[in-house]
Amino acid sequence: MTRTADSPTESAHLDGVLVVGGGYAGLHAAQAARRDGVPVTVVDATGRHDFVTRLAAVAGGTAAVTDASQPLASFVDRVEVALVRDVGDGSVTLTDGRRLRADAVVVTAGSVSSRPPVEGIEHARTLRSAEDALALRDELAEAASVVIVGGGATGVQLAGAAAHAHPGLDVTVVELAPRLLANLPAPFGAGARRILTDRGVHLHLGHGVERITPSGAVVDGVLLPGLTVWAGGFEADASGYGLPASPEGRVLVDDTLRVLGCDRTFAAGDLADHRDGQGRSLPMSAQVAVQAGTVAGGNAARLVRGSAPVAARFRQLGWVFDLGGRRGLAQVGPLDLTLPGLDLVPPLLHDAIDVKNLVEIGGLAALRFAPSSLLGLLRRGAAPCPHDRRSAAPLPAAA
Ligand SMILES: Cc1cc2nc3c(=O)[nH]c(=O)nc-3n(C[C@H](O)[C@H](O)[C@H](O)COP(=O)(O)OP(=O)(O)OC[C@H]3O[C@@H](n4cnc5c(N)ncnc54)[C@H](O)[C@@H]3O)c2cc1C
Repeated sequence: MTRTADSPTESAHLDGVLVVGGGYAGLHAAQAARRDGVPVTVVDATGRHDFVTRLAAVAGGTAAVTDASQPLASFVDRVEVALVRDVGDGSVTLTDGRRLRADAVVVTAGSVSSRPPVEGIEHARTLRSAEDALALRDELAEAASVVIVGGGATGVQLAGAAAHAHPGLDVTVVELAPRLLANLPAPFGAGARRILTDRGVHLHLGHGVERITPSGAVVDGVLLPGLTVWAGGFEADASGYGLPASPEGRVLVDDTLRVLGCDRTFAAGDLADHRDGQGRSLPMSAQVAVQAGTVAGGNAARLVRGSAPVAARFRQLGWVFDLGGRRGLAQVGPLDLTLPGLDLVPPLLHDAIDVKNLVEIGGLAALRFAPSSLLGLLRRGAAPCPHDRRSAAPLPAAA
């Protein structure tokens, strides 16, 4: 951790922009403000940037442990490792009681795994952070079977990676909807089904989980034995920070991403209720977080410099899913990459997107954190690269 020069005591004023959360939205907000010449401090609970779209591959065992997370200090100069409890107008309060004020605040504290009232859900593992991914990686290395509840992006990517990395592992996906990736166009569902069944994954579609026990998940009165992973979605808790919230718990913002009722606080990423041009709520996704973070950070800097904010205009560029073992699914503009024979292309797109992101948040020096799959390809001209089976290598320290 790089502490700010004037580490606050009870209450402190930080020059420039204070960003809460060092995820995709937070780091893009930080870079946008810095580009405008405004100093930035990032306050984050872990002091690390998790590469969240790689976590399923890390947990499943098709990506290296180093793909999970890197210290925030590699990307921003001023980092404060602390948990924010409340957010005010131009200030935040930490769980240790300290209050930090700044010229502008951008809140990007993300989301958490949803915990619906399913009996025994406390027995299920979740996958939302680098810690979760590494713990799951260790358990999967020892397990005979895994039951993944949820056939959305997280469940499908985890099932694909785990089935590829552990050919002896019995992998089951249970999904309430009649198809996989039900929130996306039908070709995604068909493509995911094709790749997962090729890898021997059992699919229980159109079935809900009745309860979860320490030894598995009960579906239609039958116990599916195995380590159970809850991949049933994510939720935000804006009101928990004292911010105005939508019924879904996301922060209400205006079109410049300023929090409603605030002058000096903006919000972006999973935590915020982003809308498209037609007023429809946008899904929680890395690409929305990146675009929103850039606008929110830029507007926070404009506020500091006394210029007018700009409105956010979100572009839905498409979807890219990496199912491990250099197979995946994508749709980019009119280009449909969900068809058999094209499976190799989406993982390359995923690598390219990550490289672009890395350069945006950390310049060329950040390329040392490029995905292991890409570095493996470049070094050997062939995939896949050998990976540490277990997470024996610890997460990189925050300092
Ligand atoms: C397993 C998985 C796979 C995914 N795959 C894809 C994909 O393929 N494509 C895609 O577009 N999206 C994907 N997503 C969704 C995408 O990762 C999220 O939408 C994105 O990470 C949101 O970015 P964010 O910056 O809002 O939040 P995050 O990236 O989660 O960052 C939030 C940050 O805030 C910090 N924080 C949280 N609370 C506090 C607090 N109180 N105080 C201080 N700091 C705090 C956290 O430590 C974290 O660093 C996936 C998500 C998961 C979990």
